[in-house]
Formats: sequence, structure tokens, C-alpha cells
Amino acid sequence: MARWKKRPTANHTRRAEDMRRNPGVWVEVGTYNGRQSAQSTARHIRLADRLPQYTPVGAFETSMRLTDDGAVLYARFVAAPGRCPICEGTFETCRCGGAR
Ligand SMILES: [Zn+2]
Repeated sequence: MARWKKRPTANHTRRAEDMRRNPGVWVEVGTYNGRQSAQSTARHIRLADRLPQYTPVGAFETSMRLTDDGAVLYARFVAAPGRCPICEGTFETCRCGGAR
């Protein structure tokens, strides 16, 4: 039976947690009807704008793949520059050994 595909709002809290647990691994954020809405969400993720799950600014990278179905947005946790990807401490304050 034909029906409109559901476009559930991406669960950013859950996705962001997945990304933080696996630094550097691309996680699918969601599929968007158009390139523009995917790009808009990507910008919010990179700037942690309206999506505080993605703080600090610069801690996440985004990537978009266009398909016949729309635009699939991916993001990954890369940590803020100079920050430990695990505890987000600086090189001086990190005690978990993640900062290099
Ligand atoms: Zn650390």
C-alpha cells in the first residue's frame, strides 16, 4: 500500500550520545526531504545552534549524501580542537588519557 514515507524528527539526543561514545564514527542523523533542510540541520549541528546536544561548537562534523529519496545527513564527534574526545578536557585537564 502506497503511503507517504514517515520523516521522524531525528532524535538528536540519542544520536549525539552515540557519536560521543564512538568518536570519529559517522552516525546517520536522518533523512531529509531536501538538500536545504539537511544543510540547515547540519549547520545547527556544527554550530550547536538550537541543538545543544552538539556542544561545544566545532565538536561535530557533518556529511550529506544525496539519494533518490532525499538527503541523508551524517555526523560524527571529532571533539573540539585541543579537547579530549572522551572527557572534553584540555590536554592539561584530561585525566582519562584520551587527549593527544
Ligand atoms: Zn580525557
